Amino acid sequence: MKTLRLILGDQLNHKHSWYKSSSSDIFYHIAEIRQETDYAIHHIQKVVAFFESMQTFAEWLKSHGHQVIYYQIDCKENRQNLKENIRQIVAQLDIQRFEYQLPDEYRLEEQLNTIVQELQIEYKAYDTEHFLTTRNYLKDFFKGKKTLLMESFYRHMRRENNILVDKKGDPEGNQWNFDKGNRKKWSEDPQIPRQYLFRKNVEKTLKRIQAAKIKTIGSINAKHFTWPTSREDSLKVLNHFCKYLLPHFGDYQDAMDPNEAYLFHSRLSFSLNCKLLSPSEVINRTINHWNSNKKEIHMNQIEGFVRQILGWREYMRGIYWQEMPNYTKINKLQNHNSLPNFYWTAQTDMYCLKSAIKNSLEHAYAHHIQRLMITGNFALLTQTDPDQVDAWYLGIYIDAIQWVELPNTRGMSQYADGGLVATKPYISSGSYINKMSNYCDNCRYNVKKRVGEDACPFNSLYWNFLLEKRKYFKKNPRMSMMLSLLDKLKTKEKKDIQAQANSFINSLSCN
Ligand code: FAD
Ligand code: SF4
Repeated sequence: MKTLRLILGDQLNHKHSWYKSSSSDIFYHIAEIRQETDYAIHHIQKVVAFFESMQTFAEWLKSHGHQVIYYQIDCKENRQNLKENIRQIVAQLDIQRFEYQLPDEYRLEEQLNTIVQELQIEYKAYDTEHFLTTRNYLKDFFKGKKTLLMESFYRHMRRENNILVDKKGDPEGNQWNFDKGNRKKWSEDPQIPRQYLFRKNVEKTLKRIQAAKIKTIGSINAKHFTWPTSREDSLKVLNHFCKYLLPHFGDYQDAMDPNEAYLFHSRLSFSLNCKLLSPSEVINRTINHWNSNKKEIHMNQIEGFVRQILGWREYMRGIYWQEMPNYTKINKLQNHNSLPNFYWTAQTDMYCLKSAIKNSLEHAYAHHIQRLMITGNFALLTQTDPDQVDAWYLGIYIDAIQWVELPNTRGMSQYADGGLVATKPYISSGSYINKMSNYCDNCRYNVKKRVGEDACPFNSLYWNFLLEKRKYFKKNPRMSMMLSLLDKLKTKEKKDIQAQANSFINSLSCN
């Protein structure tokens, strides 16, 4: 039976059981399509990384005896959307059966459901064989429970998968979580090893994207493209991480520095999200490395890393499938301001924001704490509409795919779900930023001041946010300390802070 198998751009899983054998009756289809380049305004490096990785994957399939129908963005037959391309190939090759892997995004799930109904041929959906949990695993795990604490999910995952636990199921190192050991400020010591940055020439792919007039953001050096775009590349980045960066990963997980875009972070999210690497192989490889180097690598480094992938990544996916489709609309704090224009240009005097946004525009990357405590924190404190915050995060980062972007942005960072993902909003005044980085030393604002022309905007915005949104937090025990500090402010102080914050918000230029 002639079968067409669809491979989406984020389904480049070399280890999938589909590829164990080849058949002259099976055709694989991969396409660069406007449907995917245009649903958000993506960073140019993201579009290039996807197209390059898809081409490399198609070549790998062909070299293993599979038949591949690959449509480049400018190819004549390309109808630029999944439905038309699939219908065309089914008709041209007289295909009798259609197969696909479950997509990770809700919009694609809906689209594929319609496509298979309309095709009127046999069809089958397969698992992607990538994640450690199924789509509904988290929903079942938390059934009947009031709170969806990531920590309890993570501990369960450790036990269930026998990861960093002893024979009795107790945590290695006698502690489940070494989060408190992961908050060191970095200041030049220890030296940060060089990242594994490739210097690939991607000019051909870039030209195709430019000729197609795809609207993108950010910059690119097409002669020295730095991201992994194949399994081989991804394994090199993983090995480099284990050897050079893992020894300090946990310590400086929350640190920020204006001159260090990556610090000790792994840069593995793109490879993971398009499935060039599987989460279990990343976890196993890093744990094996730690096992052979326990003298140099403390438990808090490996636990901090494993928690991100076994815990947060699987948890966020579970939240996405539990809450979709309503999650894209949720705005429990009723925030409606516009996202400032400087998110697209980095033109601001606030040095922390300038630095984090410049990083993002130049590298299609910012590490977690920059996303959460600089750009996310500021968007929340200025009470920005989560739709606009989402659109920015979905476009700008190399690893941004809705299933992981949305719960991180709308849930963890913007608290728009009212506390489903985060037990309290991730907000801070300038003093936290000053504690975790050296941004403030280079800033025209004074981090110690709340009001006045040179006062750090984060300070008035923070207290103003608490004043304006306190009704949403009054029953939250984790907010009681913040609110009692708020209550200690004198009436005049509160008035001045509010006037300062509102005049600042009104002065922001937004389209
Ligand atoms: P490392 O710090 O080296 O961490 C290792 C791996 O752990 C990452 O590659 C990633 O796969 C996983 N991980 C870490 N934190 C998270 C998390 N919170 N959720 C899911 N996985 C996690 N991650 C994305 O992959 N795509 C996104 O679109 C995305 N959007 C985000 C938006 C906001 C507002 C925030 C606060 C975080 C977002 N994250 C997203 C999570 C995290 O910031 C990135 O995964 C990380 O910065 C990627 O860099 P890295 O590979 O060097 O990560
Ligand atoms: Fe950011 Fe305020 Fe520090 Fe400037 S002073 S870098 S605005 S936290």
